[in-house]
Amino acid sequence: MTAQLIDGNALSAQVRTEVAQRAAALTARGHQPGLAVILVGDNPASAVYVRNKVKACADVGFHSVLEKYEATMTEAELLARIDALNNDPAIHGILVQLPLPKHIDDHKVIETISPAKDVDGFHIASAGALMVGEVGFKACTPYGCMKMLESIGMKDLRGKHAVVIGRSNIVGKPMAMMLLQANATVTVCHSGTADLAHHTRQADVVVAAVGKRDVLTADMVKPGAVVIDVGMNRNDEGKLCGDVDFAGVKEVAGHITPVPGGVGPMTITMLLVNTLEAAERGAA
Ligand code: NAP
Repeated sequence: MTAQLIDGNALSAQVRTEVAQRAAALTARGHQPGLAVILVGDNPASAVYVRNKVKACADVGFHSVLEKYEATMTEAELLARIDALNNDPAIHGILVQLPLPKHIDDHKVIETISPAKDVDGFHIASAGALMVGEVGFKACTPYGCMKMLESIGMKDLRGKHAVVIGRSNIVGKPMAMMLLQANATVTVCHSGTADLAHHTRQADVVVAAVGKRDVLTADMVKPGAVVIDVGMNRNDEGKLCGDVDFAGVKEVAGHITPVPGGVGPMTITMLLVNTLEAAERGAA
């Protein structure tokens, strides 16, 4: 069997076209969606991520601002900037690029962002809203994975068993919660899980969010399962690869996401969706 690819670039293009249309309608009513992106320090990977996010905003007709600060910025100065953006009516979403320099407390920074502008979905209010099924902002990466499942007709996962590998606050845990709300039976695995393959072999959907190559190999996958690869690693040639042994698993799975071109582009797309929703809520 050769799995069908779930193409994150193609799905992103489709979702971004819809976002651009809705953004144009809002802008015509005087409410152009606006995103502020804050980068502190000179982490080269972060610089690329924020550039891509700002470019994605421009492509769908959003207003965006990129605020870059030296690594010496104090925590108090950063919190004051967030406070100002919380009160700026042209800004509907605020994103602080992580990681932050060590002298700044990530948690304090995230909690200073107004929950109404928390388009990354990392605020405790957003996590709590997801937990109880209230309106909030969904963390972009797992939200993108759910969109990918929806794109292959798996919006409702009643009767399906989903296994999430990884339990971080920004990917694994919200992923598990979203799958649960889509009616899947959910197992969450992590570094303390004994016999990972025992769990994954029973899964109709496997989401790998670990950050290690070849965590999921062909012998660990049920024939026909859907495999979503969140991981971003480098292989021996220095090329981007996921957590899944793609060459092997694609021969067993029914659907699979590639790396690159899978979950990555969907993450930025869902940031745009969240920013649009923030602007729509503000304009309602
Ligand atoms: P993280 O905070 O390091 O969490 C990794 C998780 O994997 C932890 O829960 C850890 O378990 C678990 N784990 C480690 N080794 C394991 C093993 N051998 N078997 C089973 N579980 C294991 O990472 P993260 O921030 O969630 O990110 C995960 C990956 O996704 C990374 O490669 C990251 O770069 C990528 N990522 C991609 C996107 C995207 O847009 N494509 C976005 C975010 C993250 P413990 O909790 O027990 O330590």
